[in-house]
Amino acid sequence: AKAKGRNTFHFYSQELNAAANERLHIENELRQAIKSQQFSLQYQPQIDSRTGKIVGYEALIRWNHPTEGNIPPTKFIPIAEATGLIVEIGTWVLKEACRFSAVLKSKGYTADISINLSARQFKDSNLIDTISYTLNEVGLPPSMLHLELTESMLMGDVEAAIEQLKEMKKLGVSLSIDDFGTGYSSLSYLKRFPVDVLKVDRSFVKDIPQDTNDMEITAAIIAMAQKLSMKVVAEGVETAEQVAFLQRNNCHIVQGYYYSAPLTEQGVFAQDPEIMKVAG
Ligand code: C2E
Ligand code: CA
Ligand code: CA
Ligand code: CA
Repeated sequence: AKAKGRNTFHFYSQELNAAANERLHIENELRQAIKSQQFSLQYQPQIDSRTGKIVGYEALIRWNHPTEGNIPPTKFIPIAEATGLIVEIGTWVLKEACRFSAVLKSKGYTADISINLSARQFKDSNLIDTISYTLNEVGLPPSMLHLELTESMLMGDVEAAIEQLKEMKKLGVSLSIDDFGTGYSSLSYLKRFPVDVLKVDRSFVKDIPQDTNDMEITAAIIAMAQKLSMKVVAEGVETAEQVAFLQRNNCHIVQGYYYSAPLTEQGVFAQDPEIMKVAG
């Protein structure tokens, strides 16, 4: 039994080591990726389901590693966050997305651009300056930029979060709460956050119309957002039934594979922003 126990411990410590090693490995590779420009952005359309018109794009980061291929953001963003590298990466994302958005605008598109902010970036004292500098540099109207935050980023020090949100609003940008309904935000605070958009998390959308509880929750989130004068975007929309349900419940902005996966910059220009599917 003793020998077995020792083996078990050995086994676990090896596993832990492997996890720690992978982390360290990714951290080193991330530093290299920043230097040698291995990141790119893809853009997922957000559609007004009534008209089929693209009203915005969400920028999503991609890491094309020279030997390991595509590494998904769910794998490296948490490590970038833990090491603080996310601040530098996030600044690059902001610049690149704003540059792209300015190109869209110059070609006559009227779509807004959304980017994801991480907790570290949100707490960073340079954030306001970085955003305002970037908007000026590319000549993008602040109202075209949406910054997506999550509930957990806002719930630690709520008063400090509200102050930071107000500073962001002063820049004229739009604020969204991403993955809404999955975090710990208290409804009593929600009305104090100066946010413009709620993004209904995919977990509520994905089992519509089979799961009636999810349908009730989604409808309630939409109704509440509208009472608070917020816009609602549903994410992870994959089927016509989901679009129809959302339409019936007055959520008109939808994002998901039903319309389009995230696209490369060329992919965006290969598509007509005026005629996506019109849900019937
Ligand atoms: P998110 O912000 O919730 O982004 C939505 C994710 O759902 C994206 O995954 C998108 O490709 C995927 N998706 C879109 N439509 C559908 C659909 O119909 N069905 C399904 N199953 N999935 C759909 P992605 O690109 O892998 O990004 C994952 C997460 O990584 C993002 O979740 C976000 O939290 C984070 N992330 C991505 N880019 C950035 C970035 O530039 N900065 C930061 N801080 N985080 C990022
Ligand atoms: Ca997002
Ligand atoms: Ca989301
Ligand atoms: Ca998510």
